[in-house]
Parts: sequence; structure tokens; C-alpha cells
Amino acid sequence: MKKYFSVRAIGTLLLFATGFDTVVTDLHAQAGEKSPPALASAVLQKIDAATPSAATAKARQSRRILVFWRCEGFFHGEGIAGGNHALAEMGRKTGAYTADFSNDYGVFEPANLAKYDALVLNNTTQLKLPEAAQQGLLEFVRKGKGLVGIHAATDSFYDWPEGASMLGGLFDGHPWGAGGTWAFKLDEPEHPLNRAWGGKGFKLQDEIYQFKSPYTRADRRVLVSLDLSDPTTGGVEKGIKRTDRDFAVAWIKNEGQGRVFYCSLGHAANVFQDAKVLRFYLDGIQFALGDLEADSSPRKLSSK
Ligand SMILES: [Zn+2]
Repeated sequence: MKKYFSVRAIGTLLLFATGFDTVVTDLHAQAGEKSPPALASAVLQKIDAATPSAATAKARQSRRILVFWRCEGFFHGEGIAGGNHALAEMGRKTGAYTADFSNDYGVFEPANLAKYDALVLNNTTQLKLPEAAQQGLLEFVRKGKGLVGIHAATDSFYDWPEGASMLGGLFDGHPWGAGGTWAFKLDEPEHPLNRAWGGKGFKLQDEIYQFKSPYTRADRRVLVSLDLSDPTTGGVEKGIKRTDRDFAVAWIKNEGQGRVFYCSLGHAANVFQDAKVLRFYLDGIQFALGDLEADSSPRKLSSK
């Protein structure tokens, strides 16, 4: 994975905020330096084969995304490797965007972040973003850019309420384990961002999260949820904390003038071998980039 400049170079650049460079340098020597595994060529070929050949929307201008995959907590090696490969291939094949990849906190330096149209958090966990980077990211999105979260991205911002609110929720366990095949329903089959699923619910092997506050349906459009009418999926009780049994899987929302797309699918590499999942992610990224129009206003709270 590329790094764009060294931590030492960043230190000289970061005169804009006291403490930013010190924190980055300290963290650099600690956790978060793991590299995702090399996936078998057969797996990479399956991901390539599942990649959409064309984007749903034409990019209004040349687009660039930054994929960030650092972890201070649980490290989803396969999910990061599979997701990064899929994201690179989708951009290359469809022309929807070009993608850069990093796990270096230095990329949040404002002049660097400004080069991008959207930030994608691929399975990041328990991030320790310096305060200046937090403010920079809030401004980046609020002034009209995009934010995309994949799977463990909601496991990243426990100490940063504004960030958790922007992304839309915090991880609160995964009652539906990675070994299971679970059922999903479309909250709104006709919604343009649900086109990938062809109007129907689906089943998929993945690890599915439960969210706690700031998760709410009041500030977003929920696209996909667990289908609890499926006996296997609805029969899970261990670890369930939500008394309202509202288990959203994917949503879109606005933050200021910017756009946010989050989906909890993507624990391991198998998920990125599914053509519908990849189409869903590409459409979500195009929404976040501002190229694919979609209504992100909340529906009535009663209509789950
Ligand atoms: Zn996971």
C-alpha cells in the first residue's frame, strides 16, 4: 500500500495545528502497522469477475477517492485486502474514480485531503485521529465532499461523538457471526441506491453488526436491514441489546453539504466476490461523490 509522504516530512508540513505532528509520530511506532494479507490469485480473480463493468452514473468530473484502512483495534486483514482490491478494480474498470490507499494518519493533513472527492474507511477500527485531523475531516465532508464506511468503520470513533454522528452509528456487537448466512431486506426496493439488489432481499455469509447511538432512523435513509422474518436470522437472540429490533445494515445521509454512505457488509474477502455487493458499494461511492443522485431524507419512523 502506498504512503504519500513520510511521517518526518509530514511533521514539517503540519504547522497548522499544534500537536498534530507529535501525535502522528507517536502513533506511528505503535499499533496499526499491520499489513493486510496477500489474497490467493483465485480469490483476486473472483473479485475481478464480480466487479461491475460500468458505473451507474457518469462521473461529472474526474474523481479521486482516498481509501484509509488503519486499525488500532481489531484488524480485518481479509476484509481490508479484499475491499481494497475491489475498490481499486472498480475505479480502474469503470472510470468512476481513481483510488489511493493509505493507513498513515498523515493523509489527513488538509492540503492532502483537499485533493480528494471522498474518503473511504475500509474496516478501520478504534482510530486515534488527532483533533486537527478530526476537524479537517468534518470540514471536508460538511463543505461538500463524501464519506464512505465499510463494515468496521463504525468501530472507529468511540472517542469522537461528531465523527460517530457523521458516519451514523457505533458498533455494539455482532450477534450475527461471520460463519452464518443471514437474510437481508430492502427497506425501499425502488430506491435508486438499492438497484444492485434487483428489487429483492438476499442472503449472504457475513458478520452483521448491531449499532448503538448515535444510530437513529431520524437523520438518514436506511437502505438495507436484517430480515428478521427469516427463521435463522430472526432466531438469533444472544448478544442482542436493541429492544426495538432495528438492525439496519446500510444507509445514506447528509452531513452539511456533504454525503455519507455506510454499509456493514465486508467482514471478509468472500463478501467482495459478490457482484451485487460490489455494485451496491460502487453506487454508494458514486452517491458520496455527488455523481449519483438519491434521496437521503428520513422516512417516517414507523416505516421500518
Ligand atoms: Zn468484522
